Amino acid sequence: MRELKATGFVRIRGAREHNLKNIDVDIPRDALVVFTGVSGSGKSSLAFSTLYAEAQRRYLESVSPYARRLFHQMEVPEVDLIEGLPPAVALQQQRGSPTTRSSVGSVTTLSNLLRMLYSRAGDYPPGRPHLEAESFSPNTPEGTCPRCHGLGRIHEVTEASMVPDPSKTIRERAVAAWPMAWGGQNLRDILISLGVDVDKPWRDLPKKTRDWILFTEEQPQVPVYPGWTHEEIQRAIRRKTEPAYMGTFSSAKRHVTHSFATTQSAMMKARAARFMIGRLCPVCDGKRLRRESLLVRFEGLDIAEMSGLPMARFSKIFAPYAEANAGKLKALRKTHPEKALVVERIAGDLCRRLSVLLDLGLGYLTLERSTPTLSPGELQRLRLATQVVSNLFGVVYVMDEPSAGLHPADTEALLRALDGLKAVGNSLFIVEHEMDIIRRADWIVDVGPAAGEHGGEILYSGPIEGLGAVAASETRRHLFDEGAGIASRKREPAAWLRLEDVSRNNLKQVDCDIPLGVMTTVTGISGSGKSSLVSKALVELVAGSLGAAPSARDDADDEAGFEDATAVPTEGRIVGGLEGVRRLIEVDQKPIGRTPRSNLATYTGLFDHVRALFAATPEARKRRYDAGRFSFNVAKGRCPRCEGEGFVMVELLFLPRVYAPCPACHGARYNPKTLEITYSGKTIAEVLALTVEQAWDFFGDAPNVCRSLKVLREVGLNYLRLGQPATEFSGGEAQRVKLATELQRAQRGGALYVLDEPTTGLHPTDVERLLGQLNALVDAGNTVILVDHDMKVAAASDWVIDIGPGAGDEGGRIVVSGPPAVVAASPESRTALYLDRALQ
Ligand code: ADP
Ligand code: ADP
Ligand code: ZN
Ligand code: ZN
Repeated sequence: MRELKATGFVRIRGAREHNLKNIDVDIPRDALVVFTGVSGSGKSSLAFSTLYAEAQRRYLESVSPYARRLFHQMEVPEVDLIEGLPPAVALQQQRGSPTTRSSVGSVTTLSNLLRMLYSRAGDYPPGRPHLEAESFSPNTPEGTCPRCHGLGRIHEVTEASMVPDPSKTIRERAVAAWPMAWGGQNLRDILISLGVDVDKPWRDLPKKTRDWILFTEEQPQVPVYPGWTHEEIQRAIRRKTEPAYMGTFSSAKRHVTHSFATTQSAMMKARAARFMIGRLCPVCDGKRLRRESLLVRFEGLDIAEMSGLPMARFSKIFAPYAEANAGKLKALRKTHPEKALVVERIAGDLCRRLSVLLDLGLGYLTLERSTPTLSPGELQRLRLATQVVSNLFGVVYVMDEPSAGLHPADTEALLRALDGLKAVGNSLFIVEHEMDIIRRADWIVDVGPAAGEHGGEILYSGPIEGLGAVAASETRRHLFDEGAGIASRKREPAAWLRLEDVSRNNLKQVDCDIPLGVMTTVTGISGSGKSSLVSKALVELVAGSLGAAPSARDDADDEAGFEDATAVPTEGRIVGGLEGVRRLIEVDQKPIGRTPRSNLATYTGLFDHVRALFAATPEARKRRYDAGRFSFNVAKGRCPRCEGEGFVMVELLFLPRVYAPCPACHGARYNPKTLEITYSGKTIAEVLALTVEQAWDFFGDAPNVCRSLKVLREVGLNYLRLGQPATEFSGGEAQRVKLATELQRAQRGGALYVLDEPTTGLHPTDVERLLGQLNALVDAGNTVILVDHDMKVAAASDWVIDIGPGAGDEGGRIVVSGPPAVVAASPESRTALYLDRALQ
């Protein structure tokens, strides 16, 4: 072990956040500390919800109330005392929180440097004045393209885009682009007042009327008499009968363009975008800048072209300028000495920053790439690289699985980056599952022994060797008992799904055969094209052929959908094997729902059966309470005060919102009448408070309920409560809830399961369990294909497809595909060495 130069300790006393059991622990500063433990054991509750939250709270106390509002404020942690805590920076993987305007260049600050370079040292056309750095940003008034406002694309509305089905009438919502619900009814009622026949098929209306409804800029005020016919309204107007209200008309175009331009919600924006046709901006050719700015060049490229290069290529352009005595720089000193000075300084800074990014395996990214299209792991490594060159010291970096999405070949570089942060006097508190990183820790905090209620204790805190003596630790087993992997079952493919000429991102006309009836892992370094092949191309082609959207997707996808709408779609075709695929199921780690109304019981469908049991009790039948009565989403049964939420939100100016239990139902969510009904002695609220494990005993004689509970136990979620809100699930928990929901469906076989990095956030023990589930799916006649970096998973698969050999333009090919042993022997594959080790 390396020498620990800890200068002091962070002392935590009485931590009780989430499942933490009033724990005391001392953690060294100025060290690499890794928090380990099975998924759900409480690692994040300690590292993020307690330590980071407390550091943030202390920091925010020192800033102005105005500045405080700019932070995403964590809740105040449940803890008695924390001493010796330095200021903290969190590098957390944020799922599903896209801020569209940020890009690789802005997160890394490289774009700022580049703009300065173009402003001060770019080649200007003769006679043109020098421009300020802001003129090279599409997000400033000085730089933005006047036609597309810096979007690079223009969006137009047409009759066909806003009225997809002209055989429908206006009453049948022919104008699909109009708002849903009340807003749409209002516009319809206005048209009735205006004398438009809303019961005639759209295409039979006069063109002039159609154009006016869709495109007019007028916004007339019209008396509205909801529910009345045109004749009745005419009569009412003549008699000067008071209308219900005065409505304001707005054409479909106005509505769509207005909501597209002004909405703050990504979901609304995505909805508006669906009714628009996008094309490249003809003024800037998609480069987003005004023409004057694009005339300035460096090494023959305008700034947009430069930003479109992968960072690895970009860095090669600047390297000769960064080396103070390179030939290029010498020549420049003669012709333009003042430029030479600027270029040397900026190129030096650029290259210093780029070297860390390339080291972390991110050289395939371009500066212009928008951050919502990055995986959470890529984004976290970008931020990490930015911190490494920031010269900050004396802080604690709290990180969430920095190895996520990283090929084992790149782990060394990650460790170097972490060492760099530590060397200048920072502390590193990281949550990790990757054994190669855990082995390099100065100190381990092992949380467990199991998940949820069965975890939340500190099993061990100390240098790594000491963990060997802790029998209860799952981490110990994987660290010290070598070679305990799951062996490949070596099943033979039943058939092949054949893809041809697939192009998507860096995949260029790739042919790929995917074995059916077995488990396949797709491997390759970060950026090689794994997700492009599996989560994009395969999913889109199969979904297209099956004529349906992939299942197990929910509304949370809508936001990402907007980004994808501007992306180049998949090209390619399926030329064989489709008869072996009846259903397509994606099981990802995206959050389940966004409101606490979705919970474990409702998502899995188990709650329907529970409510039916309550409705069938003699007392409920006597009172004529149906199953809807026992839903907290339906007015008749729920608490009217909190509308079934169980808590009320208290908004405090400048402080994090506080949720307090509802004063009427005290968190029960139901009204007193509903709570008078019991099933086997428990109210519906008490049933929602049961864990899966307790419910398994309680519902022993209700087969419908038990079917769901059985699979939830099998995927290791026995500690979750039935009423646990979906918003509290970690990524790994959400994924397993989805998997369990799929598993309980009748096992007919013929399904294709697609999983992108399913082991993210999972302890090796959880990975073993997941593999058990996936093997069971295959044994039941289904196909499983997954993207993963965990070599134990690849070694346990029947088949491996290795993509690469490099990232970006240097990848996108199938390097080798075959059973694990064949891939492990490939001289060209960068995965081979690591797979070979896992097979030993
Ligand atoms: P780990 O990081 O080890 O996977 P977590 O600290 O995320 O585990 O979770 C520990 C336990 O706390 C789990 O049972 C989880 O369901 C629960 N939990 C996590 N977040 C919340 C929350 N916001 N509210 C209540 N319980 C939570
Ligand atoms: P992997 O899954 O192997 O890490 P990806 O399939 O995500 O690799 O990426 C392959 C290549 O395609 C990379 O060069 C990446 O930058 C590029 N790419 C991926 N997604 C997008 C996107 N939404 N827009 C532009 N380029 C993308
Ligand atoms: Zn433009
Ligand atoms: Zn209430």
